[in-house]
Amino acid sequence: MSRIVYLNGQWLPETEARISVFDRGFVFADAIYEVTAVIGGKLIDYAGHSGRLKRSLAALGIQAPVSDDEMLSLHREILTRNGMTDGLIYLQVSRGAEDRDFLFSDDLTPTFVMFTQSRPVLANPKWQTGISVITMPEGRWVQRQIKTVQLLYSSLAKMEARKQGADDAFFVEDGFITEASSSNAHIVTKAGTLVTRDLSNALLHGITRGWVLDLARRAGMAVEERGFTPAEAKDAAEVFITSATNFVMPVVRIDGQPVGAGTPGPVSETLRKRYIEDRLASAI
Ligand code: PMP
Repeated sequence: MSRIVYLNGQWLPETEARISVFDRGFVFADAIYEVTAVIGGKLIDYAGHSGRLKRSLAALGIQAPVSDDEMLSLHREILTRNGMTDGLIYLQVSRGAEDRDFLFSDDLTPTFVMFTQSRPVLANPKWQTGISVITMPEGRWVQRQIKTVQLLYSSLAKMEARKQGADDAFFVEDGFITEASSSNAHIVTKAGTLVTRDLSNALLHGITRGWVLDLARRAGMAVEERGFTPAEAKDAAEVFITSATNFVMPVVRIDGQPVGAGTPGPVSETLRKRYIEDRLASAI
């Protein structure tokens, strides 16, 4: 399968798209990214993802590569060009390329890449079994609210999780869980309260997280936005993660210890179903 990718104003077969070895995304991880899910040809939570894209660009002082209208039409066009109805759209914007120097020029032309990943996002077999996680010290940089491509620690964490027979890792800082390596972490206490870390620079402000909290509140659930410890998570009735690629995914094991009955619980299942139903209704 050869995809058509978008690179700086051009549509190219994936094997022909090239960027400079001097690109600051490559040399300094000076770049930001977004991932949007696509179901039945529609973009899920596009407004949230495009809003965060603009905030990430502004935080790093990188120029927006295209206008808002053009950004939306590129999302539509990449689906048409690749005949994709279900999957993910990945986009990355770097500050651009120039001779390597920690100091950068302020007139660089950003590098803008988009590609598709076709997959049946509504048929994730792990929703039925849940996933297992390990806890690891938080070792990422401190401006985690910006969706930068500095993903080395997250990538090493996922490899370590796999080595230990788990699916993912929860990062722990000062005794509290920040989030998972590429998703937000949530617990449901035995009293039925949904607890999720409050927003700060300690974690990425997940688009899926925001809507899931909104749906939980609308369903009358008690919601607390505060830090929680690995011990609280291990003792919770349910634990789950949220992201644009997993929606709501149950976590059934932490550091080898079963959560609740060790099987996916009803709250995460209900919230996943409601999230998909609600966000599909608003998909564009
Ligand atoms: N936290 C991190 C570190 C992430 O990388 C992601 C997304 N990949 C999320 C949370 C979830 O964010 P969203 O719901 O916007 O996909």
